[in-house]
Amino acid sequence: MRIEAVVGDITRERVDAIVNAANSSLMGGGGVDGAIHRAAGPGLLEECMELRRTELPDGLPVGQAVPTAGHDLPARWVIHTVGPNARRGETDPALLASCFTSSLDVAGDVGAAEVALPAVSAGVFGWAMEDVARIAVEAVKNWKPQQAGTPVELVRFVVVDEAALAAFRREI
Ligand code: ADP
Repeated sequence: MRIEAVVGDITRERVDAIVNAANSSLMGGGGVDGAIHRAAGPGLLEECMELRRTELPDGLPVGQAVPTAGHDLPARWVIHTVGPNARRGETDPALLASCFTSSLDVAGDVGAAEVALPAVSAGVFGWAMEDVARIAVEAVKNWKPQQAGTPVELVRFVVVDEAALAAFRREI
């Protein structure tokens, strides 16, 4: 499995799946979540609302991940995960690591060989970029696929600036 980091806008990634730093409600929000919903179009919100009505009446728990279609995005799938919110005292590294490993588990389940991920929790949720980079890269390196199927071949961290890029590249 190849692990890399680039500066860019994750909504433009031509990979099988992009990961969304969502919130539990799955109803969209600011940051990367808002950008993904804008780029994916209204079909994404409709699918998220359907998920809330059916499988996730109480929302998506922190550290877990769920797939939807990519709708108008180049990516076929969006894998939504909810990062821990440091501003609410959620500072357990295991919870943040779980966002990345759960997202890769879902990628394996849906057969996504190439996955792009943002720096989950490094924005509104208040984690330091260096901590996110360390925890994310370690989690991905230690991740083991749960079952035989399409292997995840490429994990690409897509970040917004050179400082974040440097943090991720150091860890990789
Ligand atoms: P969280 O609530 O999990 O902290 P945010 O969306 O606020 O999520 O921030 C997560 C990271 O995603 C931040 O580093 C933010 O700068 C970055 N980000 C925002 N928009 C994009 C985008 N279009 N592509 C990639 N990363 C983005």
